[in-house]
Amino acid sequence: MLGLYAESIFAKPIKMKFVFCCYFLLISAAAIAQPAPNAENIFIITTDGFRWQEVFTGADSDLISNPRYVEDTTLLKQLYWDSTAELRRQKLMPFFWNIVAQQGQLYGNRLYENKVDVANFYKISYPGYNEMFTGYPDPVFIPNIPVHNRNTNIFEYLNARKEYAGKVAIFSSWNIFSAILNKHRTHLPVNSGYENLPDDSSYNNEMINVSQDLIVHKKNTRYDLLTYLSAREYIEHNQPKVVLIGFGETDEYAHGKRYDLYLQQAANVDKMIAELWYYVQTNPFYRNKTTFIITTDHGRGKNPTAWYKHGILTKGSGETWFAVIGPGISRGGEIKSDQQNYQKQMASTIASLLGEQFDSRKNNADPIFIPMATGYNTALLRHPK
Ligand SMILES: [Zn+2]
Repeated sequence: MLGLYAESIFAKPIKMKFVFCCYFLLISAAAIAQPAPNAENIFIITTDGFRWQEVFTGADSDLISNPRYVEDTTLLKQLYWDSTAELRRQKLMPFFWNIVAQQGQLYGNRLYENKVDVANFYKISYPGYNEMFTGYPDPVFIPNIPVHNRNTNIFEYLNARKEYAGKVAIFSSWNIFSAILNKHRTHLPVNSGYENLPDDSSYNNEMINVSQDLIVHKKNTRYDLLTYLSAREYIEHNQPKVVLIGFGETDEYAHGKRYDLYLQQAANVDKMIAELWYYVQTNPFYRNKTTFIITTDHGRGKNPTAWYKHGILTKGSGETWFAVIGPGISRGGEIKSDQQNYQKQMASTIASLLGEQFDSRKNNADPIFIPMATGYNTALLRHPK
């Protein structure tokens, strides 16, 4: 029976087939002429004060064998050391170097004169995240304290637009994010530090809240794993379109002069991003419609005696990096061309990847030029100056 039925379909008159062919040709022509839609969702993931040196060259030879900064140098070398920078970075951050390097783009390897810098003078976290999310390196110095930010950020801008209203979600380890993104004015859903999730028996929120409550010595930065679990739980149940996850432990371990824990935390961050990317790419709501931008708020000292600190007086503190992967992002891998990009361009880059234009009325910087695959809209992305 099935055979007969199939035969009758293919036995339609030739004229009919011709009409169908023309129809499909027209559809394909329209697809070529129109730029493909940009990303529908964007996830921004930051890991505080993580150096470009480790992103692009893996574990540092001086630091990994220095017992002042590493408790077990033999074991840490077995975990993260290898003969070339390519092998070392792959050991440290397999998601970056197996997935992003194949399917996306990585910026900031200064060995190729590909530079990403902060534009703010201070090179610490509050000014850094302000610059990143408002597109404006505020000359007024706000140290890392909970002062409500006067500048308009990209998340409140998107949250005010119909397509993203109520679909923005922010989770951070560091408790100052609520002030940097001015939760009071913006009413953005910012979950930062050891803030509990809403009680909802249908979610795993209670399990996360209980774990948080059990932490005895709560610091300003909660465990990144708890931040990640909180974000994951929210994403699975609410499908936000704009997500910020701010990890913080890389900076904490660096200040503690623990290069071993700093490296291990970078590997953990890479693993959490890999898991999130896998979730996104296997979920029909997000699959092939979601861009990830991964970056940091500042660099650290470049020489082996200053790696653990950062600020105005520490050389290297302004040097950063970013990685991007998502629909239409061309497979550029590690960008090796002579370029200068700035952290202040991040806010408008986030907007332009969604096909939006961020105008904060405060002299915010132009988007970064990110090469896109043929047929994608690049109109808003500008070439580096
Ligand atoms: Zn710091």
